[in-house]
Amino acid sequence: KAKSRGLSQYGFYQPEMAEATAKKTRMEQMLRQALEKNELLLHYQPQICAQTQALVGAEVLVRWQPAGQPMVSPAQFIPLAEETGLIIPIGEWIFRRACEQYVKWRAQGMRDILLSVNVSPHQIEEADFVERFVAIIEETGIDASRVVLEITESLAIQEGEDAIRKLKTLKQRGLQVSMDDFGTGYSSLGVLKLYQVDSLKIAREFIRDLTDDHEQRTIVNAILAMAASMKLKVIAEGVETKEQFDHLRLQGCDWIQGFYFSKPLSAEDFARFAGGGRLFVIA
Ligand code: C2E
Ligand code: MG
Ligand code: MG
Ligand code: MG
Repeated sequence: KAKSRGLSQYGFYQPEMAEATAKKTRMEQMLRQALEKNELLLHYQPQICAQTQALVGAEVLVRWQPAGQPMVSPAQFIPLAEETGLIIPIGEWIFRRACEQYVKWRAQGMRDILLSVNVSPHQIEEADFVERFVAIIEETGIDASRVVLEITESLAIQEGEDAIRKLKTLKQRGLQVSMDDFGTGYSSLGVLKLYQVDSLKIAREFIRDLTDDHEQRTIVNAILAMAASMKLKVIAEGVETKEQFDHLRLQGCDWIQGFYFSKPLSAEDFARFAGGGRLFVIA
């Protein structure tokens, strides 16, 4: 056991590892061409007000459908994109495309919900991150105050001051910042303050066992109480059942996202969802 673990450090002694490396290389080559081949698309998951059940926002979730291959999950290709630097052009495409879609929806009569976009730490690290995002906002004409950047806790450790400064600049332009997957990483109350986040998203891990695990319930209730006292909005993600929804609503959670209300939808299906089953009609 100890010996094989020692060898595997070098990577090339184990056939499974060689195979995994080859697969990764193939996937990387495919991902390099994904943008020009038009294989990426965006889905939008509704975010619902817990109290009124009104639609309040959409989270943008990227999808990759390579020609003649099964769909690849972002949980697989986003880490690869980050490792290879491809997240920079891909992330920029995602942001531009989502803003364009939002502006189109508004022109069709959708009301001004929030548009949440996941942003990788690697994007924020780029020297011209702020300029690129501001340019996209100006070019698409989206109302900046409707844009929410979802950041992750890992950012808090890796990119202290530089990221804080950049996000602050974007916040001055009207954008909002949300801490994604809250509770799974290392962030503290101090980090939420430092990054001046407007909202936090309780990680799915805590929601999953919410109604039958006493400990999870204690954690979720504590997060909700803390957020309320800091005047932060809270979104629960991965809400799948009425029991979870009821518990969160009664504990004062602001917004809900999860299969209980809707899976992530194509742009067209999202518009239909927002219009209560109908596509909007321009008045
Ligand atoms: P995330 O940002 O935490 O996104 C939430 C994930 O939970 C999405 O998975 C969504 O489809 C899934 N989900 C939502 N409601 C439910 C539910 O009720 N039950 C279950 N089981 N799952 C639910 P998805 O789309 O596979 O994305 C996975 C992760 O990939 C995202 O986690 C995010 O970290 C990353 N990702 C997705 N799109 C982008 C993107 O455009 N840019 C970047 N940088 N990362 C992205
Ligand atoms: Mg997210
Ligand atoms: Mg999340
Ligand atoms: Mg995540």
